[in-house]
Amino acid sequence: MTFPGLGLIPPLLSALDTLGYQTPTPVQTQAIPAVLAGRDLMAAAQTGTGKTAGFALPLLQRLAAAEAPVASNCARVVVLVPTRELAEQVHESFRAYGQHLSLRTCAVYGGVSINPQMMKLRKGMDVVVATPGRLLDLHRQNAIKFNEVQTLVLDEADRMLDLGFSRELNAVFAALPKRRQTLLFSATFSDAIRAMAGAILHDPVAIEVSPRNTTAKGVRQRVIPVDKKRKPELFSHLLKRRRWGQVLVFVKTRKGVEQLVATLQAQGISADSIHGDKPQPARLRALERFKAAEVQILVATDVAARGLDIDDLPLVVNFDLPIVAEDYIHRIGRTGRAGATGEAISLVCADEVGLLSAIETLTKQVFQRFEEAGFEPDHRVPLTNAAGQLVKKPKKPKKPKVAVAPAKAPAPGKRGGSAAPGGRRKGPASAAGKPASRRRPR
Ligand code: AMP
Repeated sequence: MTFPGLGLIPPLLSALDTLGYQTPTPVQTQAIPAVLAGRDLMAAAQTGTGKTAGFALPLLQRLAAAEAPVASNCARVVVLVPTRELAEQVHESFRAYGQHLSLRTCAVYGGVSINPQMMKLRKGMDVVVATPGRLLDLHRQNAIKFNEVQTLVLDEADRMLDLGFSRELNAVFAALPKRRQTLLFSATFSDAIRAMAGAILHDPVAIEVSPRNTTAKGVRQRVIPVDKKRKPELFSHLLKRRRWGQVLVFVKTRKGVEQLVATLQAQGISADSIHGDKPQPARLRALERFKAAEVQILVATDVAARGLDIDDLPLVVNFDLPIVAEDYIHRIGRTGRAGATGEAISLVCADEVGLLSAIETLTKQVFQRFEEAGFEPDHRVPLTNAAGQLVKKPKKPKKPKVAVAPAKAPAPGKRGGSAAPGGRRKGPASAAGKPASRRRPR
């Protein structure tokens, strides 16, 4: 399939040519004709599949065909996303794909002043990319009206629910015109997402470009067992020894992010951070510096890293495993994007074995483990099996009680030994003259 074969108009084809997109990805091949035909969509597509172009290209094409300009304070397409970063990212994609069209687009999100956003909306916007809370604020203040909305896109819908946006989403659904096109994109499909889809989609075209809850195929995923307190040391060691280039590192807490950045900087390694405590301009600056290769290591929490699109990122390191197993899929979706290969390495300590097991269950695989010489953990990380269960260490046989009388040989054909004094049976080993505790457990 080719982009012209999908029926895209010359201004879009020329933008794609400039961006170097040669062939549509599977999600684009399926989504573009359906969206152009005005259908609703329910797409199971994880990040990195090219889903943004899958909805942005056909929506831009439909908007370009509109006869009248959009009225002031109105919007024709509303794209809801879970985070500010993703809002910027998706908006940037609309701008890039629509560079030869005269359409108006903007991104609105919380954490920054609302006034400039209100000013922008006055002109009317063809596309508004928004986080749910800020969109509702703007709507309450009459800065945006929904009567001209033709299409609603829910991007990373699973994440919006994970972040607790379900009330805001319901308020937006209630305020939008009933007759509209709705496109729902989600990496994972929980029962809650299916229920939401059932309530808001009309006869949707279903698209599934990757099997449910799987990670990108081109990403090699491995685990290094290590003691918790030695993680920073191991990270610096691997960075030097394996000559890692740019790395995106995920850490569980904001405090943990700052601690790791400080440790790396103290060693003269250029590192920056993205987390929820940082003001939005500082977060964007850190991302830009990382994209421009001005910093080698970007350390992030899950929420802040959502939607990061970084070309050719070869390596993602999970310094801590995520609490929510689905976040693992999103994290490692930052590498191996658009068909490239990548690597995901998780530093796992004994405390995290339950999280590891949950991730392996979700992704239906057991990650290859390797120990780094000099960093073998004192606290062993129990093995997990293909069903995501812990492989129990065989129990040590109990030490036999000191026998009062010499043991008799068991009768031929009888399993076990003779009855010990007190009625307790002794193990077969003691009958062979060897204490049971020294035998290898089976
Ligand atoms: P997404 O899944 O929308 O976040 O896209 C992942 C990355 O793939 C982005 O960097 C896009 O610019 C890139 N991309 C999307 N579609 C194509 C395509 N057809 N050819 C090459 N790169 C693409």
